[in-house]
Amino acid sequence: MSTFLLEVVTPERKVYAKEVNMVIVKGMEGELGIQANHVPLVTPLKVAPVVIKTNGKVEEIAVHGGFVQIGKEKVVILAETAELPGDIDYNRAKAARERAERRLANKKDHIDHRRAELALQRALARIEVSEHKI
Ligand code: ATP
Repeated sequence: MSTFLLEVVTPERKVYAKEVNMVIVKGMEGELGIQANHVPLVTPLKVAPVVIKTNGKVEEIAVHGGFVQIGKEKVVILAETAELPGDIDYNRAKAARERAERRLANKKDHIDHRRAELALQRALARIEVSEHKI
């Protein structure tokens, strides 16, 4: 199966750069399975795990916001933050989930719902990626 270069980059660092067979991302307009020679395109991403397939092996990265740029030479995911399973502090993510759920449940609280929802999505993506590692 042919390969292409996948890079996952945040403002702080290059999280991932490898030749892969396929990457599956959750775009704002739906799920996108990208293989070599995909048509060039740029599209925004949801807060969700990115799934990478290489020689029958599956890897996951928790990607939080950002874009995927599909080019002729390579595919670049540019995100606010991105973590490999080994980078994720599982207990911190669970605490963040509980905090966000508590805020969303407390109707009397004058909270920013969108902000709490996004925090919840980030925590859920981290928990999912972290649990698949085990
Ligand atoms: P928290 O409320 O726990 O800070 P958050 O979703 O608000 O979570 P972000 O603002 O998305 O955190 O990220 C801030 C920095 O902390 C980023 O560098 C991100 O990669 C890192 N980070 C956040 N949560 C975790 C986690 N559970 N494990 C490892 N790194 C994390």
